[in-house]
Amino acid sequence: MEILPLISAIEEKQLTLIGICSDENSSFKLGPATAPPRIREALHNGSANLTAENGISLGNNKRFTDIGDVNIGSGAEAFMKIEEHISQILEQGGLPLTLGGDHAITYPIIKAMAKYHQSFSILHFDAHPDLYDELMGNRLSNACPFARIMENSLATRLIQVGIRTVNEHQKSQIERFSVETHEMQHFDAQSFNPNLTGPVYISFDIDALDPAFAPGVSHFEPGGLSVREVLNIIQKIDVPIIGADIVEYNPEHDINGMTAMVAAKLIKEIGGMILKSNPL
Ligand code: MN
Ligand code: MN
Repeated sequence: MEILPLISAIEEKQLTLIGICSDENSSFKLGPATAPPRIREALHNGSANLTAENGISLGNNKRFTDIGDVNIGSGAEAFMKIEEHISQILEQGGLPLTLGGDHAITYPIIKAMAKYHQSFSILHFDAHPDLYDELMGNRLSNACPFARIMENSLATRLIQVGIRTVNEHQKSQIERFSVETHEMQHFDAQSFNPNLTGPVYISFDIDALDPAFAPGVSHFEPGGLSVREVLNIIQKIDVPIIGADIVEYNPEHDINGMTAMVAAKLIKEIGGMILKSNPL
């Protein structure tokens, strides 16, 4: 595949924002395909500066580039294209921060990550384990990405937080893949420590948050995390963060763009931590 000019300009350890406008594997409602431009609008709407709480600014920062949204088409070809775009970013030495799209896109992203990183953990924020073997006959559904990732041994550890929808099938999948699932019913964000020892990738499904903070999602699941809790968890990470995705924002269900602002805040805070944890 041809390398996009913006990708060929990426520099070593440059945080690279890329949008994937795809929701064809959404199992319930469409909408996340329109998310990336809406999140960028919120990021640049002038209401706030671009400085993360750790002091690193994405504004006028040579270590930050936004290559826009890529056209990936549909079907099997779409997954190949996602994998190739992320591979090209990694080939250039970039640190990918991907805006979805539904959560199905994380499987091809992680396939690319696994080609460039020997071993890494995934810290997965979600209301749902996303470990279904298949859903409604679709093995690439947004309910399945972590089943595909774990059965292909693409990550060393899968650590899940925000979870509050485990059923019998997903419970057996959690056991089958030795997933470290932290369910909301027992979760204490303050004392949570994933004991990371090597590089980590962050996959952030917006519905991990309580709908009170982030109503703009397809799968509305009360009883979730607060924005402050997830920021504290992310800010405590003391190993290199090699990439991240922010998925499942659904503008159709948002109220006054408040969830877009949450997603924009996550770009700043996760982006700031990616840069801090990968010094030049
Ligand atoms: Mn998910
Ligand atoms: Mn979810």
